[in-house]
Amino acid sequence: MPNALSKKFDLIVVGAGVGGLILSLLMARKGFRVAVLDQQAHPMPLPRGEILQPNGLNILAQLGLLEALLKSDVHFNKKVHFHQSSGAHLCTIDYMRLPLPYPYSVVLLPAILQEILLDALAASPRIETFWGTSFKGLIKKDNCIVGLEAMQAESPVTFECSIVAGADGAGSRVRAAFQVAHRTHAYEDGYITMVVDRPPGFQEDSRYYLGKGTIFGAFPVSDTKVYLFYMIPTHQIAAVKNRGIDDLKLAIFSLNPEIEIMFGGPLQAVSGWEQTAYMRCFRVRCDQWAVDGGVLLGDAAHAMNPHVAQGRNSAMADAVLLADVLEDCFQQGDFSQNKLRRYEQARRVEIEKLQSLGDEMVFFWNSTSPVLLWLRDRVFKKVERKPHLHDKLLKTVAGIDVSPFNLIDRLSAVCL
Ligand SMILES: Cc1cc2nc3c(=O)[nH]c(=O)nc-3n(C[C@H](O)[C@H](O)[C@H](O)COP(=O)(O)OP(=O)(O)OC[C@H]3O[C@@H](n4cnc5c(N)ncnc54)[C@H](O)[C@@H]3O)c2cc1C
Repeated sequence: MPNALSKKFDLIVVGAGVGGLILSLLMARKGFRVAVLDQQAHPMPLPRGEILQPNGLNILAQLGLLEALLKSDVHFNKKVHFHQSSGAHLCTIDYMRLPLPYPYSVVLLPAILQEILLDALAASPRIETFWGTSFKGLIKKDNCIVGLEAMQAESPVTFECSIVAGADGAGSRVRAAFQVAHRTHAYEDGYITMVVDRPPGFQEDSRYYLGKGTIFGAFPVSDTKVYLFYMIPTHQIAAVKNRGIDDLKLAIFSLNPEIEIMFGGPLQAVSGWEQTAYMRCFRVRCDQWAVDGGVLLGDAAHAMNPHVAQGRNSAMADAVLLADVLEDCFQQGDFSQNKLRRYEQARRVEIEKLQSLGDEMVFFWNSTSPVLLWLRDRVFKKVERKPHLHDKLLKTVAGIDVSPFNLIDRLSAVCL
């Protein structure tokens, strides 16, 4: 028999990723009692960097957390340079063309934001965080969700609540328990990620090297560190690991001699796979983001390809909107799907645009087809030369005005 926990919560959030943490914080600030569950025994960020876009920075500012973040060892990212893997310059995306207050994005180690959020959670008497606690199933009474079952150190535990929020990532078990129909697309390509010393001469800007079926990126994440990522198809990762890490370095260096000159030294410190992570990429499309007594956010509702660099920022935006809708639900004692629909309606259009943009980027950027690569490079060069295309793309990725290219923009990007 499960042990009944003595406490009842207003809201239980499954998943202590950025979406779950921000929702918990906002709901606690609105006066509700929140439990956050995460299957990990303790926070364990991967060796990777992440980009916080202007929309994410704006949310952190509203939460009063941006100052602490910007005082930490993070990188103010003003430009991203795209090169062919041969080294030829294709395009520079210039964040400084964005309006104030955020003419930049921030690249950082995920642990920094996570720590700031966890400190804010710890300061709230209304939030309890349960690490090493894995969601197992819902508890229902008269067909209504009244709590959930979880496993904690191999012991079953139960939690009572008015509503369950599934913020448990692309493979969400909460989504399965809600019986929400969905389609999960596993992209062919994932990324080996690592964080190495920032070499002298590697200036402020981030870089992408795009080749024929190859992508390598280098983004400073702090004054002293740089985040590197290299695309590898998931079906090849076992073979790549068998060949050894030195073989991987040679493959990266073979893209362009400049990469070896720049990163050969720092990469010497990467001697085992445990210093790397392999991150798979998914797109999730759900028929609905809410059920009676339950709601999904972040990757659980709508994972997207990382080329748009909006997954985490979108999870944060979900949390902000959802907190307002949930406050209404509590005021009216109504947690029906119908009541929660306002949240989904407000977010879905933008999310679907970002997902489509992500797919389009994968189609061109990851391609091995000479025709598609020619088109890819041509579009990059036009974006470089045409401010209206540059700014439209930038504002979309920055989450300021999500309006990907229309037909006229596409013609302008290819023909004129
Ligand atoms: C290679 C790569 C690079 C990316 N770069 C960026 C970027 O630069 N910027 C950006 O905005 N986005 C980026 N993303 C996307 C971003 O990482 C995700 O969109 C974001 O992490 C989603 O946040 P989330 O809170 O929804 O879920 P997650 O961060 O996935 O958190 C889910 C949490 O739920 C927990 N959990 C899972 N199952 C259970 C269970 N059964 N019980 C309890 N807990 C559970 C997990 O332990 C985890 O802590 C990238 C993605 C990839 C793959």
